[in-house]
Amino acid sequence: MSQIATDREIDRSKMAVSDEIAIQINKMNKWYGAFHVLRDIDMTVQRGERIVIAGPSGSGKSTLIRCINRLEEHQKGDIIVDGIELTSDLKNIDKIRREVGMCFQHFNLFPHLTILENCTLAPMWVRKTPKKEAEEIAMHFLEKVKIPEQADKYPGQLSGGQQQRVAIARSLCMKPRIMLFDEPTSALDPEMIKEVLDTMVELAEEGMTMLCVTHEMGFAKQVANRVIFMDAGQIVEQNEPEEFFNNPKSERTKLFLSQIL
Ligand code: ADP
Ligand code: MG
Repeated sequence: MSQIATDREIDRSKMAVSDEIAIQINKMNKWYGAFHVLRDIDMTVQRGERIVIAGPSGSGKSTLIRCINRLEEHQKGDIIVDGIELTSDLKNIDKIRREVGMCFQHFNLFPHLTILENCTLAPMWVRKTPKKEAEEIAMHFLEKVKIPEQADKYPGQLSGGQQQRVAIARSLCMKPRIMLFDEPTSALDPEMIKEVLDTMVELAEEGMTMLCVTHEMGFAKQVANRVIFMDAGQIVEQNEPEEFFNNPKSERTKLFLSQIL
């Protein structure tokens, strides 16, 4: 490559197979003040991959996920999402947030807006979609998560499982190419977990690139093509689910699995 490269070429040069790669992370490190929370994270996510991130509480799973859509800033190494390098440039952040949807443990719906309004807000303000079209898109995704009849209610009138499905629909309304989930079922009563997991399974079957932090190992076995195990800010081990569960390599993974399975 010539000495004078455009930003785009610099990005590309760090990527192994260009468009086939959804997320590339190279030697990424993050600190909270003096606390070194993520250490030399290397990770390549191909388009269409369904990755489950597992690991003990405090191992850095949420921080990693939050770095990928720049809710947190990393200090060292590269993160390239959809061909866009995450730098302090605000323009890049806007682009990334448009491509990457995120669902949290607590659904973070706007309580004073109806379900429909929750779903049309970002498309109207960020994507500048006309209201009528935004509402059609919202209804399409509310049907997909099987609660179109709740469109005119407020979040407080819905069960936890329904609210989480709204949160997923709301993300999908932005037509993201990548979805990040951070323990989306952890705050739910057991009988509501399945309805949210079913929605996620459907998304996976449609080919969405997904990164899910979850303790639902049944979901990992059913849906993931790869499980990444983190401990103390590092990726300790990763493998396809069958190998990961039946033949864990590191002592830390074995200990973790013995505690949760
Ligand atoms: P996990 O999601 O795996 O439970 P987190 O990424 O939430 O782990 O946290 C990793 C570590 O970083 C924990 O020790 C946590 O206390 C610490 N931590 C998380 N967020 C912050 C923050 N905003 N400031 C300082 N420390 C934090
Ligand atoms: Mg967490």
